[in-house]
Amino acid sequence: MPPLLRYPGTVLAMQAFEATNHYFDEAARLLDLSENIRTLLITPDREVRVEVVIEMDSGQIGNFIGYRVQHDNARGPFKGGLRYHPLVDQDEARSLASLMTWKTALVDLPYGGAKGGINCDPNKLSRGEMERLTRRFIEKIHDVIGPVKDIPAPDMGTDAQVMAWIMNEYSKYEGFNPACVTGKPVEFHGSLGREAATGYGVAIIAREVLARRKASVGGTTFAIQGYGNVGSHTARFLSQQGAKIVAVSDAYGAICNLNGIDIPALDEHVAVARKVVGFKGGEPTTNEHLLKMPVDVLIPAALGGVFDREMAQAVQAKLIIEAANGPTWPEADEVFKARGIPVVPDILANSGGVIVSYFEWVQNLQHFRWPLERIQSEEQSRMVAAFHEVYDLAEHLKVSLRTAAFYLAITRVSRAHALGGI
Ligand code: GLU
Repeated sequence: MPPLLRYPGTVLAMQAFEATNHYFDEAARLLDLSENIRTLLITPDREVRVEVVIEMDSGQIGNFIGYRVQHDNARGPFKGGLRYHPLVDQDEARSLASLMTWKTALVDLPYGGAKGGINCDPNKLSRGEMERLTRRFIEKIHDVIGPVKDIPAPDMGTDAQVMAWIMNEYSKYEGFNPACVTGKPVEFHGSLGREAATGYGVAIIAREVLARRKASVGGTTFAIQGYGNVGSHTARFLSQQGAKIVAVSDAYGAICNLNGIDIPALDEHVAVARKVVGFKGGEPTTNEHLLKMPVDVLIPAALGGVFDREMAQAVQAKLIIEAANGPTWPEADEVFKARGIPVVPDILANSGGVIVSYFEWVQNLQHFRWPLERIQSEEQSRMVAAFHEVYDLAEHLKVSLRTAAFYLAITRVSRAHALGGI
């Protein structure tokens, strides 16, 4: 098991893939897989590491390293986001690529799993530098990605504009094909509902898990760590259902208000200030305090590796919903189990993003646009179905929601390998 991780969220990169494989093993043990199949399922299919050199605005040379890990494609093309962040490295990409394999299988999308990114600090790059970095990266990896090979998407530090550059750059080499990447701008072959899809899905999962616990979102207290794309849309959809969101945070700090934060007003503040701190409708606090507040539901929606053993012991929430990828170390997972705090795992809770990426890809292949109502209702039905399948299986096998989710996902991926043949 990995050693303790210190808050705030600095992933001990050497251990991220190991932690994902630990969760894989917990479920695989119940499945009676042979050692060879286990090795086949956990080992990434291909790992690409490229040097990305660009001219910075200053005229100096900027050297960056880009990664794309293609984990498994037994069920369909590799699929997963691109992250631009200073902590991006091979091990993190491997761990996140593996999570994508299990995520796409769990919600039954015809995809495998991949992840990648560039080790950089997007906050310190100009728009021109971001564009040159993205185009140079795609120039180097265009032959291993594409609509039937590997379809990138947004993740931390990347957005619809970055996806637009990817589509344009890819098309220079391979011919025009918008299905080569998802999460594009709506007016540039993107899908309605994609930007808010992950947060929308997290709010659906919150509603469903609370219903199974004879509660409802209305009046339930929430703390949300992270107010980027995922955290902010989660807050908006939860508050529309009457949730009392008592604390939110971002990389610069946190705010709390025990009477419930006015989310539309906070969003107006964030649109200008670019951070939650300074919002008049809440008291300033720390990220660490937010994680330890006595709330009904705690939602990590930022970096991985937030909960180590110590933090898991300090958490006072009654339920955790993982909107982030990999926020819980296995040692913390054990503490949550022992303390009877259910954790809705990342591969289920945040699957709304890749579900709507799938709808975007389908629309691109069909050259046809779906209305938002169709997208949201199909996202909802897939997530609700997957959630209850996992919840029922966890009750039946008397295992955690995470183990049940991995169990279902591993079953599907190993079946695809068996049917396809070696
Ligand atoms: N980056 C998102 C995730 O971690 C979305 C991936 C996708 O849409 O392909 O699930």
